[in-house]
Amino acid sequence: MAHDLSSPDAAPQRPGASSVERWPGSSAARALSAAVRFITAPVRHLVDLWRRSIQARVVIGTLTLSAVLAILAGEVLLRQVTDRILDSKVDASLAEAAGGAEYAQSQLDSAEIGNFFDVGPELRNLIDSLARGDEARDQYDLVIIGPLSPSTGTDGSGGRLVSGAVTPSRSIPAALMQQVRAEPGSWWAYSTLYFNDRDRPAEPGLVVGSQLRVPTTGQIYALFHVFPLTEQQETLFVVRSALITTGVVLVVLLGTIAWLVTRQVVTPVRLARRIAERLAAGRLEERMHVRGKDDIARLGVSFNQMASSLQRQIRQLEELSRVQRRFVADVSHELRTPLTTVRMAADVLHDSREDFDPVTARSAELLQGELDRFEGLLTDLLEISRFDAGAAVLDLGDVDIRDVARRVDDWAAPLAAQRGTRVSVSVPDEPCYAEADVRRVERIVRNLVVNAITYGEGRDVEVTVATGSNAVALTVRDYGVGLKSGEEVLVFNRFWRADPARARTRGGTGLGLSIAIEDTALHGGRLDACGRPGRGSLFRLTLPRRAGDRLEESPLPLEMVEPAAPVAVGGPYARFPGSRGGMQ
Ligand code: ADP
Repeated sequence: MAHDLSSPDAAPQRPGASSVERWPGSSAARALSAAVRFITAPVRHLVDLWRRSIQARVVIGTLTLSAVLAILAGEVLLRQVTDRILDSKVDASLAEAAGGAEYAQSQLDSAEIGNFFDVGPELRNLIDSLARGDEARDQYDLVIIGPLSPSTGTDGSGGRLVSGAVTPSRSIPAALMQQVRAEPGSWWAYSTLYFNDRDRPAEPGLVVGSQLRVPTTGQIYALFHVFPLTEQQETLFVVRSALITTGVVLVVLLGTIAWLVTRQVVTPVRLARRIAERLAAGRLEERMHVRGKDDIARLGVSFNQMASSLQRQIRQLEELSRVQRRFVADVSHELRTPLTTVRMAADVLHDSREDFDPVTARSAELLQGELDRFEGLLTDLLEISRFDAGAAVLDLGDVDIRDVARRVDDWAAPLAAQRGTRVSVSVPDEPCYAEADVRRVERIVRNLVVNAITYGEGRDVEVTVATGSNAVALTVRDYGVGLKSGEEVLVFNRFWRADPARARTRGGTGLGLSIAIEDTALHGGRLDACGRPGRGSLFRLTLPRRAGDRLEESPLPLEMVEPAAPVAVGGPYARFPGSRGGMQ
């Protein structure tokens, strides 16, 4: 099973457990979640845009606010225009109806109506002459309701004379009819007009009613002037369309203006962001283009000053670091020659220590030990200098990492025995080949194993090797002092030691892991660590099987699996130095 290198703490998966097994019926759930994603994706996109872009926020805000304002203003305007148009229509219609009613009453007053049967023809003449009227007057229909013949009944509800196509029974509101019958004078109401012609749709209208009285018979009639409001409706429709069009154009214009104005501010900010990103990526010569003297230009000038200052400081630091590296390399080289001479002299003293008195003999031994340490430090420093100078090259060959693990195990046996540590090596049956520099890989593994023994507090150390399709991996697990949070990164820094005082007595220089990580990087591999204080640590080396291939996953997990049984502490093994554990 492969392990993602980008997430070292990824949860372990049960071998062979597929997602289908773990989630029965999950295909329906997947389809549902896909549908939800499809619906919510545009919303999320908008929210994302809103969060990320100041320009989008300003434009959307302006559009929303101006749309609300345009709707409110349009509503108020439309209401005022409607009131105006209808008021003037009502005034004109009432005047027209009053004139008509007056004329009708005067006609009735002067007519020679002897009895009930003369009323019908007289009213017919009246309605005809009123309907004809003059050309200039508004179009309206006339309706007279009242007793026109004995068959219409005493209340006259059945008798009606109509000029035009309006249907009185549906068009004249019942309340208005009652009012006109009950009281003399003029009354009016808005209504919906219906017509005999089925193809003609209902129209909004205004109905004005007045009482007519036949003086000779005393009969009461209701005269209705029915004014259609079609023209007013059309006018209002035109006004409404004009308002909507103006509103939409206004909102779009305001949105465009907001977009243009914010662009003026946002574009330089975006440019600054892009340049800052390039600076962060190491292109220190990048600068903002400054034009004019406004605030944005001043921002650009300050930004450029900041970039120049950063560039200067980084150059200085680089120079300092270069000088330091050079110094270390030169000093290490210079020390090499006198060290060889001192070493020869120390060897002579060490070999003849038996002839010295005990104090001098001990001094000769101490001198030998310190010289070993000094020589080790110089070798490490020279190696680091080679990496810094870019002089380190790989001597590639096919390396079976299992052999490396076994060789290092043998090599570390005396140290393990001395510390009472049992080292176990676990390797697969199949070969674990990688195209690598065997000397460097062995140096990495030696360092990891020596560290595990050194900081393992005499407890077991486990070396595991595995291979995947593209990578091979080796882990070294110990159950010693472990690493505190954050130390899994710090351990690879040069000269870093968790406990310098203690490390000095153990002989650590703090350079071993920094050389190991440089060696790993030369191979295009990865060296990772994890640990817990007092619970041990785990170091994992992953190398690509073919040199130069990109590493994506490691065949071994970077996780601290706790041992099933308590881990043995050195004691007993110290008595049997030859019996190191070997689980192969
Ligand atoms: P050193 O020569 O000091 O061991 P390294 O570079 O190998 O130098 O290690 C740097 C430091 O990392 C060590 O001093 C130690 O504090 C810490 N370290 C390395 N390996 C382990 C380990 N297996 N367990 C705990 N700490 C470790």
